[in-house]
Amino acid sequence: MSTRLKLAVPNKGRLSERALELLSLAGFHVPRHARRLMADVNDQWRLLFVRTDDIPEYVANGTADVGITGFDIVRESGLDVERVLDLGFGKCRLVVATLQAHEIKNVKQLQGKRIATVFPNLTKNFFTENDVEVDIVPLSGATEIAPSIGVADAIIDLVETGSTLRQNGLEILETFLYSEAVLIANANSIAEKRDALIELETAIKSVLDAKAKRYFMINAPEDELEQITALLPGVTAPTVMPLMGREGWVAVHAVIHEGDVNRIIPELRKCRAEGLLILPIERMMP
Ligand code: AMP
Repeated sequence: MSTRLKLAVPNKGRLSERALELLSLAGFHVPRHARRLMADVNDQWRLLFVRTDDIPEYVANGTADVGITGFDIVRESGLDVERVLDLGFGKCRLVVATLQAHEIKNVKQLQGKRIATVFPNLTKNFFTENDVEVDIVPLSGATEIAPSIGVADAIIDLVETGSTLRQNGLEILETFLYSEAVLIANANSIAEKRDALIELETAIKSVLDAKAKRYFMINAPEDELEQITALLPGVTAPTVMPLMGREGWVAVHAVIHEGDVNRIIPELRKCRAEGLLILPIERMMP
């Protein structure tokens, strides 16, 4: 029997490519031609390519040890899995929306109304918590057209920017869940295969941490070093090296936040910095 650890990843849909890209950057590279039902990565891991919606079930019942799926899907499943890591992509929110032209302007006014959704469980919980009784109309997609064709009075749906809703004449009454892609794990697997799961989590986290950072290299006069170090936020100890053949000059290397790059450059120029190089960082383990 195979002792490989099993990681369930979406086989298609919005989250699939991004999940594989993240895994690849983390060192779990799957060639495109191998992305069918399952693929083995190094000696330790087996990737299972399955439907995004089914991943909580596979993880909960132990078919997979870990999985990547949307947090909304995990919550809708109601299954008992551990949310190990937020992955920073597939960001969206679950909202209650109704026709702009409708007289309904808050959730309480939905009493007795029909709500179309692909999230019947979350919808039921939401209205129960709000003490509002509704009829749920379960659909398998395209809920945004339900109000205008008279199938429902309101919808509960995922939005990223809200533009699809606006195009369909809908307005948001309330946001009640923020979602993104998450790494989930089975509690038994966490206990029994701890070391391998920590290795996976650490590898993925190192990619996420590196994304917003840049490796910054400059040459500068040594007598400006104090000023320059003060300009590099969050860096307690930049690497400083002598420059061969340039008396009184040094190379300074530091990791900085990408959002600070443009602000810092003119300041460094004032300190007579030259030869600036700004590089992406593949992985980072502080
Ligand atoms: P799929 O149906 O396989 O394309 O994946 C849908 C999942 O992608 C959702 O359950 C969310 O977790 C995520 N997602 C991210 N942004 C959106 C969006 N604007 N609309 C629908 N799903 C989104």
